Amino acid sequence: MDFGFTEEQRMVQEMARSFAEKEIAPFIDEDEKNHHYRREILSKMGELGLLGWSIPEEYGGNGMGWMEGVIALYEIAKVHTSWRLSISGNCWGPAMTINEYGTEEQKAKYIPDLISGKAVGSFAMTEANSGSDVGAMKTFAEDKGDHWLINGTKMWISGGHVSDIGLLYAVTTEGGGPRGLSCFIIDYNNTPGITRIPIHEKVGMWPAPTSELVFENAVVPKENLLGPLNKGFQICMWQLNNTRMGCATGAAALSAACLEGSVNYANERMQFGQPIGKFQMIQQQIAEMKLEDDAAKYLVYRAAWLKDKGLPSQQETSMAKLYACNAAVHAANVAMKIYGSYGYSTEYPCGRWLRDAKQFETLEGTSNIHTTIIAGIELGYQPNR
Ligand SMILES: Cc1cc2nc3c(=O)[nH]c(=O)nc-3n(C[C@H](O)[C@H](O)[C@H](O)COP(=O)(O)OP(=O)(O)OC[C@H]3O[C@@H](n4cnc5c(N)ncnc54)[C@H](O)[C@@H]3O)c2cc1C
Repeated sequence: MDFGFTEEQRMVQEMARSFAEKEIAPFIDEDEKNHHYRREILSKMGELGLLGWSIPEEYGGNGMGWMEGVIALYEIAKVHTSWRLSISGNCWGPAMTINEYGTEEQKAKYIPDLISGKAVGSFAMTEANSGSDVGAMKTFAEDKGDHWLINGTKMWISGGHVSDIGLLYAVTTEGGGPRGLSCFIIDYNNTPGITRIPIHEKVGMWPAPTSELVFENAVVPKENLLGPLNKGFQICMWQLNNTRMGCATGAAALSAACLEGSVNYANERMQFGQPIGKFQMIQQQIAEMKLEDDAAKYLVYRAAWLKDKGLPSQQETSMAKLYACNAAVHAANVAMKIYGSYGYSTEYPCGRWLRDAKQFETLEGTSNIHTTIIAGIELGYQPNR
């Protein structure tokens, strides 16, 4: 594993950084206040090739892999973590999963629009009564001979009400639990029977749309089954092992934003005739943030490196996600303390950092679930995939 970036990786980093500074940073306050999602940011990311990691070039991929994708997502999420979802919601979610499990027709039909940013992607497994327990979902896809008839409700779906193309996980064999699930590609603009309801009451991630999706006799073409029938659980776990990298990288980036902000503030804020950074207790806080920040980042790089090599990475992905999530929550909490009263003011980003950091403890596997995966693999109860 080489810790130094290649020339190409440095260029990716620079491009993503300047994109985030130009296209995302100037609108943060306005978008936070209005809970506003800017679709044009996704289109611009697509134009720059920022959505096409580890995807064959024939479908619009940029010829680069996981490490470059992680570098790009990190720079974007450091400016605002909501925008990390563009890469995981389009590329590492639907595009990559269709590329792995899809037919030639499915790949040619759906991947290019996801990678170019023409389409907004999503993936939907969670329901009101089925979160960690994916196999308990109730949304049912009935085989009607020439089409699938889908009924049920998905909750907490990122990008759901603005999505054009999404993956949907549903029951195809009643009572089969994880062995009775299948995966479908949903063309949201051309599928009758779907009602999409925005979820506005969220603690954070305000510019990122989150939705409830109601399927009422939704008619889905037969050919939209992705992968083998009743293999949806395996497909879902494979997808999560990829999309969780979006959380891991986003959390590491958020931790870095908190550290950078705290260092600047500690050097500027004067108390007792000196910058507060000169006080040992502030130094202790900065040192702890720095340690955790570096550890989180290198765990993310290791998982990306393993994926680029095609090696098992499930345990390392869970380690990166869990550790980076803890680092982000801790860093956001400490940043608010270092900024003092100004940390509590909405004119500074500490409140947003803290609100946004808390998401990582829940989505794409709660911290308990990742602890279970790490321990289960370590104890030999399940293989590292
Ligand atoms: C902002 C946001 C965006 C999201 N985006 C998406 C999306 O795009 N697509 C999607 O499908 N879902 C999405 N989700 C849903 C998310 O993935 C789920 O919320 C998550 O999987 C947890 O499920 P739950 O909320 O039902 O919690 P539960 O599963 O009910 O868990 C509640 C508590 O019980 C604990 N627990 C549960 N099972 C165990 C166990 N076996 N061992 C130990 N502890 C356990 C959990 O750790 C947690 O502390 C999103 C959620 C949020 C908040």
